[in-house]
Amino acid sequence: NKQILFKNNVNGFPKESDMLLVTTTTINLKLPEASNAVLVKNLYLSCDPYMRDRMNESKESYIDSFTPGSPIIGYGVAKVLDSGHSNFKKGDLVWGIIGWEEYSIINEPETLFKIEHTDVPLSYYTGILGMTGMTAYAGFYEICASKKGEYVFVSAASGAVGQLVGQFAKLSGCYVVGSAGTKEKVDLLKNKFGFDEAFNYKEEQDLDAALKRYFPNGIDIYFENVGGKLLEAVLSNMRVNGRISACGMISQYNLEQGEGVHNLSHIVTKSLRMQGFIVVHYYHLYPKYLEMIIPLIKQGKICYIEDVAEGLESAPMALIGLFSGKNVGKQVVAPLSL
Ligand code: NDP
Repeated sequence: NKQILFKNNVNGFPKESDMLLVTTTTINLKLPEASNAVLVKNLYLSCDPYMRDRMNESKESYIDSFTPGSPIIGYGVAKVLDSGHSNFKKGDLVWGIIGWEEYSIINEPETLFKIEHTDVPLSYYTGILGMTGMTAYAGFYEICASKKGEYVFVSAASGAVGQLVGQFAKLSGCYVVGSAGTKEKVDLLKNKFGFDEAFNYKEEQDLDAALKRYFPNGIDIYFENVGGKLLEAVLSNMRVNGRISACGMISQYNLEQGEGVHNLSHIVTKSLRMQGFIVVHYYHLYPKYLEMIIPLIKQGKICYIEDVAEGLESAPMALIGLFSGKNVGKQVVAPLSL
């Protein structure tokens, strides 16, 4: 059983050497007697920015830290090989939290989602049909309360969440602009995902001026993935009664202490609503989301781009790449020797 172990707590930017590939020659593929656990073979792993938080030393956080010396855990897609739980049987496909290893024993199988639609790429259950898709759905539809014709700005727009938010906003009749960190990503936003405009934030000396160029009348909705200086510039460009869906702030995750953000007083003077959320609190909406998204995928009304790293050994590099923008679209690790 090949595994990627978490070595030790991380300060600053994570490195490949914070994780370790090990191979154990003997594999125990038997479930303990009378357990309701499930044995799975892991097929696809998801790399997600929130995993950085789990690399910090245990502290007050919404999520537990990884255990040094144990496998990294994260979202993924797997096949059930043996089951002590009445909801799962051999051969079922599932998505949920699994280990970064070839085989995992899942002690709380209630946390897994059974995959019912298999006529779409299985890897989509790490992204558009999994946690990431639910993030875009909850963050946009539940929090932004968009109206047709409104002006929407999305940061980290070509990423796993951002590419969907932009397309949801277009389907809702909004004007949408995205920012991303390379020319290739900007081209994708305009030519593949249908954003009205897009810009490379790394090439802008003055973010405030860039936003004024694309939103001369201001922004109604900001889908926040980045934080820091970009948030500061957005606050000055929000319209009265604007809404900010605070999904993530990736520019802050590797800093010892988060940057201070100026311009917060605009929240008061423009009657803005800024709401954070954690996707797991919206999982009850998953069946409703599938009802919406599966037909959109099948009719080709929504597209999804993945960046696939090959093999378990490439997972550490793929994960840390998220923090320098190496990934183009949803970062997946696949397939784990089917
Ligand atoms: P992405 O696929 O967008 O990958 C991360 C991207 O962030 C990179 O490709 C890079 O794109 C950009 N980035 C990295 N570092 C910086 C930086 N310092 N400044 C600006 N941009 C940076 O990731 P996801 O779509 O999976 O996640 C997007 C956001 O959503 C994250 O903040 C994440 O934490 C959050 N999230 C929140 C959830 C919730 O429950 N609230 C659930 C899931 C995700 P570029 O080249 O454009 O810079």
